[in-house]
Amino acid sequence: MSDTNGTGGPHEANAATGTTRAGTTRGLSGTTGTGGLDAALFTAWAEEIAAAVRADRDRLTALDSAIGDADHGANLDRGFTAVAEALAGGRPDTPGALLSLVGNTLIRKVGGASGPLYGMAFREAGKALGDAPAVSLADLDAALAAGLAGIRRLGSAAEGDKTMVDALAPALRALTQAVQEGQAPAEAVGAAAEAAEAGAQATISMQARKGRASYLGPRSVGHEDPGAASTALIVRALHAAVSRTAGTPGERSGPAPEGPA
Ligand code: ADP
Ligand code: MG
Repeated sequence: MSDTNGTGGPHEANAATGTTRAGTTRGLSGTTGTGGLDAALFTAWAEEIAAAVRADRDRLTALDSAIGDADHGANLDRGFTAVAEALAGGRPDTPGALLSLVGNTLIRKVGGASGPLYGMAFREAGKALGDAPAVSLADLDAALAAGLAGIRRLGSAAEGDKTMVDALAPALRALTQAVQEGQAPAEAVGAAAEAAEAGAQATISMQARKGRASYLGPRSVGHEDPGAASTALIVRALHAAVSRTAGTPGERSGPAPEGPA
């Protein structure tokens, strides 16, 4: 799973160009492997994250007050509010540019450890998607792997260190497996969200070895890691976005104006 970064090609999507106000009725125009995840879907993801972070801001901050400095909810709310504001003015045309915009905004607006780490993750994921107008579930899986690799490169945390990696790594394993099994996007991302939530819960019994919480040593045990909790929110938000654009569970796809069913 490591060392997958650096293969996304030299293209750096420019989020500042080619914005559009196209409607969000599209988003997921096919099933697995058909390249049906478009900019509307990724925009919906960013909007779902902003809403989820806003709703859980106090919970994230309470988690960070137990083993950190009580700013994680405020940090992410500031960052994703800025993302939502940027998108309200027009969104990028491609999934890659959208994720790059998210990453750049987080790096600019969010301080602490989580801003650079999440910023790096979204930027690397965006870079991995290049400038394709729509991507497949397998592409998304590869992009999230590039994001995780970026977090690991920047923060050098391994699984078990009680960080966001403990939610993202199992989520990615679940997604990869679901893609290999040919599951539909909503089911596949749902499995990833469940794995992220289980991973975040599993941090409760861990002792922190990275970040501020590591200063507490054994006293960090018994508390959920705030970054793992927010990663679970972010993956659950992706599930909400995919489900929203895919229609009700059991349907194979959304409006599907073009492309194979
Ligand atoms: P800060 O700790 O600077 O106040 P935040 O509170 O916003 O920043 O984010 C804290 C979260 O960042 C932690 O709960 C943890 O999940 C994550 N984190 C901290 N250091 C690392 C690291 N080296 N690698 C991965 N994640 C980290
Ligand atoms: Mg903090």
